[in-house]
Amino acid sequence: MATSRRTLTGSPAVPLAEVVDRLETGKNRDDSARLEATRRFPVRWTRYYLDLIDPADPADPIRRIAYPEAAELESHPDELADPVGERDRSPQPYIVRKHADRAILLTTSRCHVYCRFCFRRSFPDGEHRDPSVEVLDAAIDYLARETDLREVILSGGDPLTLPDDELRRIVGCLAGIPHLTQLRIHTRAPVHDPARIDRRLVEALTSKLPTWVVLHFNHPREITSETRRVVSLFLEAGMPVLNQTVLLAGVNDDASTLEALCRGLLAQRIKPYYLHHPDRVPGAGSFYIDIERGKRIYGELTRRLGGGLALPAYVIDPPDGSGKVPVG
Ligand SMILES: *Cc1c(COP(=O)(O)O)cnc(C)c1O
Repeated sequence: MATSRRTLTGSPAVPLAEVVDRLETGKNRDDSARLEATRRFPVRWTRYYLDLIDPADPADPIRRIAYPEAAELESHPDELADPVGERDRSPQPYIVRKHADRAILLTTSRCHVYCRFCFRRSFPDGEHRDPSVEVLDAAIDYLARETDLREVILSGGDPLTLPDDELRRIVGCLAGIPHLTQLRIHTRAPVHDPARIDRRLVEALTSKLPTWVVLHFNHPREITSETRRVVSLFLEAGMPVLNQTVLLAGVNDDASTLEALCRGLLAQRIKPYYLHHPDRVPGAGSFYIDIERGKRIYGELTRRLGGGLALPAYVIDPPDGSGKVPVG
């Protein structure tokens, strides 16, 4: 039912041994618990993302986002294999639907870099697998049958790990569905592997469907000169660019970091859309923060920004599968 693609479209992976070499001082080099963690959930680095890290800082936020730690092997009783209730909301393999008018199409399980807090690490199969062309086509047939739908969200994994031709084909199929009025693409490729985004890719994503691009910046240091280039390509193609951030302990759980992130995004013509309360993901306990603390941080962020365009909505995606709701 599912096939495994040997490669993804994007920059080559940096060998794990080289990542360890760069990020570890002598005594931790041979940390077998961490290497075991890497077997539970894949690790992949691009040179671009690795170069954003300060190797001298063991608490570097970029390092925390993508470098496995032994804590990943620990789980807590209140963590859930299906933290946002997607399994019961999957009417068709590789589709998630919590709303009448919009649905997610999980195009792949691959990413250019794997975030250690990912809420979809065990979905859809609990394995690192991609849908075959037949399974993907059956999912698209479902979208074509469901005439209440207005919007399809390409997600994964990261849809931009797929080859341009495959993306062109998928977008072409969706553009041919008469009841759809918009398309959304959720991707972290501009953060992890901006070289993946070029004119050819943007052209492959272009159709008659109005298309929104939702990025996933979590820290102001992820914003670079490459960000400006990538955003310009989307905007020139008429695709508005938004961002969602996950509130993460040790990465961005303070109002000044979030303020710098939101102001930095807006300066790049990216509208901060959502700030997500972290999900109860097994093995991601070190990123979790208490909701009361989240509310205090968001309150402080709101005061600092004085509301306005830079302020995202603070939302939580509860485990009952009912969909995202504003916190408080
Ligand atoms: C997040 C999500 C969406 C998109 O929700 P918006 O509030 O429109 O951004 C759609 N479907 C599912 C299942 C989701 O989890």
